[in-house]
Amino acid sequence: RKTVWIGTNWKMNKGPAEALAAAEALKAYRAPDGVKPFIITPFTSLQAVASVLKGADVLVGAQNMHWEESGSWTGEISPGMVKECGADIVLIGHSERRQHFAETDWTVSRKMSAALRHGLRPLLCIGESLEEYDFGVTAETLSRQLKIALHDVAHADLPNILIAYEPVWAIGAGGRAADTDCVAKVHAGLRAVLCEIAGKDIGDRVPLLYGGSVTQDNARSYVSQPNVDGVFVGRAGWSVPDFEKLIDRVI
Ligand code: 13P
Repeated sequence: RKTVWIGTNWKMNKGPAEALAAAEALKAYRAPDGVKPFIITPFTSLQAVASVLKGADVLVGAQNMHWEESGSWTGEISPGMVKECGADIVLIGHSERRQHFAETDWTVSRKMSAALRHGLRPLLCIGESLEEYDFGVTAETLSRQLKIALHDVAHADLPNILIAYEPVWAIGAGGRAADTDCVAKVHAGLRAVLCEIAGKDIGDRVPLLYGGSVTQDNARSYVSQPNVDGVFVGRAGWSVPDFEKLIDRVI
């Protein structure tokens, strides 16, 4: 069976105390064979959570980072700082950052190579807006986002990254989950772009996750599609028991 990645993005939730309690609760969790669970914490909780979960089955990631090592960048966090906090993964280009914080394909591209240079596993998020979906330019939008983000990534590094397809219209309260056939079709297209970029041997080995209104009830239907190597959830993973239940229901 394929390796299945199941992660939750805590977004702007859980301060240090609440995050620590969640990490303590996750520490003893034993993931089913072949499943790689991960949580993506706010910066202020990252170090404490990573230190509790060191050596545990659940990997830990940050929600963003700058691409420079240090300098006059008020309010930013460098790749080295994220690494030093003990993170395994770093989220790059989440749609909420692109939408509300002016993140562009260019900054995403800088961050991808910076993360890999620091031994972090970048989780690249791509997705079309509702407008792009309605105009029928989903494939073109995703292909552009992917090609720019991966432009400076060595092909040999590609199997060490994660990619999440998260349609903007499917995310958060008010979003609606994409139907599984549509996700299967989009992921087949992404796979083809990856194979075009790096050749079939490498392109086939890049994990492709789906995210956007994933729940305990629908998670399994995504993961059972070809070219879907996991799910990336928000709300459905914010409580630890819910997150563990979701994983159990996928397998
Ligand atoms: P929801 O699962 O809450 O729709 O959020 C998905 C997401 O943005 C994961 O990064």
